[in-house]
Amino acid sequence: CGIIARVGEDDGVDRLLGGLERLEYRGYDSAGIAVENGTGLAVRKASGEVTDLKQSVSASRIHGGIGIGHTRWSTHGPPTDDNAHPHTDTTGEVAVVHNGVIDNHAALRRELEAAGCEFTSDTDTEVVPHRFERYLSAHPPEEAFRKTVRDLDGSYAIAAMVEGVDAVFAARRGSPLVLGVSDEEYFLASDVPAFLEHTDEVIYFEDDEIGVITPDHVEITTLDGRPVERASEVVAWDA
Ligand code: GLU
Repeated sequence: CGIIARVGEDDGVDRLLGGLERLEYRGYDSAGIAVENGTGLAVRKASGEVTDLKQSVSASRIHGGIGIGHTRWSTHGPPTDDNAHPHTDTTGEVAVVHNGVIDNHAALRRELEAAGCEFTSDTDTEVVPHRFERYLSAHPPEEAFRKTVRDLDGSYAIAAMVEGVDAVFAARRGSPLVLGVSDEEYFLASDVPAFLEHTDEVIYFEDDEIGVITPDHVEITTLDGRPVERASEVVAWDA
């Protein structure tokens, strides 16, 4: 299982799909991507192989400079198209990919369903986009994301996007997450090979850190809001 995100100005769909192919070694049963295509979030996902996802994307192209992708190894819910990531909230305003397990998903889901959220999957992950969307009605995106992550128990590497916001939001606890830095673009991934052909300059996230990645800036803070200063390093890795 793995996650990838790409933040840049030009179209990044092929880089997302390429990143997913290079995460295949981690094992998976489903794959998907979401991009901001200018009029909203476009999502493509299915159970099966990354090559199947590539075919469905080339049959009906989507474009976007900012996107997230996922290869799923099911823990909650069988490997179906509906259970594949990215997951969205009821309105389609938020898209989320997640590796790991949300331990308190059942309680969060009951609360969200009681508040009117309509769930479309069996996953533990789907509470995240619904929760994020509800916080967005009263808070700016970074704060809404931080509040969402603080409500989660369990292990996670998360990448999330909000319709109309030029950013990817990232969080980590107990699952690996690394940022790739270059002059033109940023990547986020479970592991360096996902983006190594584009850059070998990286910043590793630590547990309980949040990242906000925009086309020209990265901001890392702790879960309780303190700024994190961390220089990038060059990885010694054979591509
Ligand atoms: N627990 C999530 C699910 O079952 C994520 C699994 C993963 O890490 O790929 O969908």
